[in-house]
Amino acid sequence: MDAGTVFATVSLTMLVNGIVLGLILRDLPAELRPSAIYWLIGTLLIALGCTAFAFGESLPRPVMLTAANGFFVFGLTAYLRSVQEFHGVRPKPMALAPAVIATACVLIFSSVYQNFGIRLVVVSLGWAWLMVGCVRLLIIGAREDKSLSRKMLAALFIILFIYSVVRVVVYLSQNPAADFAVETGANWLNLLSPIVMTLLPIVGTTTFVLMCGDYLRRKLERTASTDFLTGLPNRRALVDYGSEMFVRARGGIAELAVAVLDIDYFKTVNDTYGHGAGDLALIHVARLLRAETRKNDVVARSGGEEFVVLMGGLDERETIATIERLRLAVEETDFDPKAEGISITLSAGVASYRTGDASFDDILKRADNALYRAKTLGRNRVELWHAAASSLERQTLH
Ligand code: GH3
Ligand code: MG
Ligand code: MG
Repeated sequence: MDAGTVFATVSLTMLVNGIVLGLILRDLPAELRPSAIYWLIGTLLIALGCTAFAFGESLPRPVMLTAANGFFVFGLTAYLRSVQEFHGVRPKPMALAPAVIATACVLIFSSVYQNFGIRLVVVSLGWAWLMVGCVRLLIIGAREDKSLSRKMLAALFIILFIYSVVRVVVYLSQNPAADFAVETGANWLNLLSPIVMTLLPIVGTTTFVLMCGDYLRRKLERTASTDFLTGLPNRRALVDYGSEMFVRARGGIAELAVAVLDIDYFKTVNDTYGHGAGDLALIHVARLLRAETRKNDVVARSGGEEFVVLMGGLDERETIATIERLRLAVEETDFDPKAEGISITLSAGVASYRTGDASFDDILKRADNALYRAKTLGRNRVELWHAAASSLERQTLH
């Protein structure tokens, strides 16, 4: 089989693959569509590049070479744009420069000055530049998204990068003539090239679609565990975090303190200033809680006007000091920038892990108990749970 037949076969396969991607495009959510459209364009351009090699014999050779190489390098540019769109990266002002330079060089060094070596090096540099751009973004993004599909796509770009470097070295070491043709079956690399070119449009497309699926799954998980109003973890996520931290506390790895904070007379805030102002107050408290705690502390909205802070590695005294600081910050700041002089207060109950606790819920219940005491003792205060006070309360309740 000659390279032309291989190019023809793979270009058809790529076209079919591109059509399939085009068909599923409309099922993707709006935020993924631009990225998928660029991926589709990349696939179609590379398919056209292969078609030019396969069926371009009747064209003048410089035209065929420029068209084929141009389609390839613009196709890779579209792939880079796709990966950029996926990561919310804006296009760079000179985004088309590598493709334009590489295409112009192919035209010049296949017509005016025939030089296979220069053509090969410039085109490969263009490819390498674009592929490094893709790998960089895919690896940076992997800090948040550890999906296998992302790693696979990065691996594909790395394989192609290595292939293009090896290709330059092998071809140049064979000291090719100025009019050396890669589209013939004259060399094993000539046959391998079209097959390697299918990696991105075919395997890459499948991987890209899987990556979109992983993105959607993560988004769904995030939505299910995030409070819509404040952006904090919700009660569901709190239970997960709490259970994890409980296991660490029981294993003696890190202490665990739990604070339940509840806005005082919040119903009156809603009744006096309206539900919208109430929402602003909740957002304001959420922001203060996040700002006043450490990065590793968990701040969640457990429901209504109640928040929970989970702190690892702090003893009760340090926890009380932190929550007291939070209480003061809320008391001292206006929650509505448009209506100065209106502030809210909150009460808090604190409890920490004790030997014998069976679950995270045990600590949460004690913190709730302490909160109840803070409320009954007049509000706008922080109370630490202790056994004596709680048994006293039980006695007075009975
Ligand atoms: P206390 O000092 O005893 O905690 O009194 P409170 O008024 O804060 O407590 P109560 O449980 O009587 O009222 C809670 C109010 O919180 C009632 C409810 O309408 C309001 N609320 C719950 N969720 C939201 C919300 O998302 N937005 C707004 N604006 N209000 C909410
Ligand atoms: Mg309240
Ligand atoms: Mg409440």
